[in-house]
Amino acid sequence: MEKLTTAEQLNSFIDSYDNFLFDCDGVLWEGSNVFPNVREAMQLLRTKGKRIFFVTNNSTKSREAYLDKFKKLDIEAHLDEIFSSAFATAAYLKNVVNFPADKKVYIVGMSGISEELKAEGIRSFGGVEDDGARSIDDITDDPEVGAVVMGLDVNISYYKYCKAFTFLHNHPERLFLLTNADSTFPTHGTLFPGAGAIASPLITALERKPDAILGKPAQNMLEAILAEYSLDPTKSCMIGDRLDTDIDFGNRGGLTTLCVLTGVTREDKLLSDSNPIKATFYVDSFGDFASLTGS
Ligand code: PLP
Ligand code: CA
Repeated sequence: MEKLTTAEQLNSFIDSYDNFLFDCDGVLWEGSNVFPNVREAMQLLRTKGKRIFFVTNNSTKSREAYLDKFKKLDIEAHLDEIFSSAFATAAYLKNVVNFPADKKVYIVGMSGISEELKAEGIRSFGGVEDDGARSIDDITDDPEVGAVVMGLDVNISYYKYCKAFTFLHNHPERLFLLTNADSTFPTHGTLFPGAGAIASPLITALERKPDAILGKPAQNMLEAILAEYSLDPTKSCMIGDRLDTDIDFGNRGGLTTLCVLTGVTREDKLLSDSNPIKATFYVDSFGDFASLTGS
């Protein structure tokens, strides 16, 4: 793994690829704080005519809401450049599963999931509409449920676990999907439990693993992006901060990978002999590329 530090190394890296896929949180920003020099570095890539994509495992926001976030943070982005685990889940249900019109999806998660399902014409209930404080005595099975989709839910409750359990227990024919399996996500200068962590109680109770996990490192989103935009993987680079999602995602797809140290991965962990997931290159921060603009 080569660390890029000099202007020559940074320049030659950028010139080697046509397409840059970005993880968002931990690379561009943390929460709502944009890292130093990110806007300038991003503008450099656009000026050089590079294709840019944003690939996030955050299922809490729809792509439209993500676009608003980019606008608010003053980073140029376009809707067709944004891919998220909630969008990937909706696309999977529609295009891979052909989810039947007479069935509906129970959501444990935030509005990102329900909005993306709605955009694909898939009926759903639960999510932010669910009153997680209701009595578990009210829970009954619903024969119209065809799938349970779980993502990070900041209002997760025992009631929601019981409901999801009821819909899936003794129903192997119903799909159990997880938007992403991140154990943690960075926020407020610390880490909080992610969708993978909050799915664990349900997985334990059901003694059943999800039928699919759609976020990185699963290849669904990458295959969709490469096919839709006719991208050559050997001319494409995935930039991320997390080894078991972003870097594994890029490596599996045959992309070059660049790990940044502004998110969850520390340099000692990255370089440790016990780390099985290696990036092609690493850099202290994506903002380092701004030095090439003279700013
Ligand atoms: N999941 C949640 C709920 C998040 O809030 C975040 C980041 O904010 C992530 C996952 C990781 O997102 P990314 O793949 O952009 O790092
Ligand atoms: Ca990240």
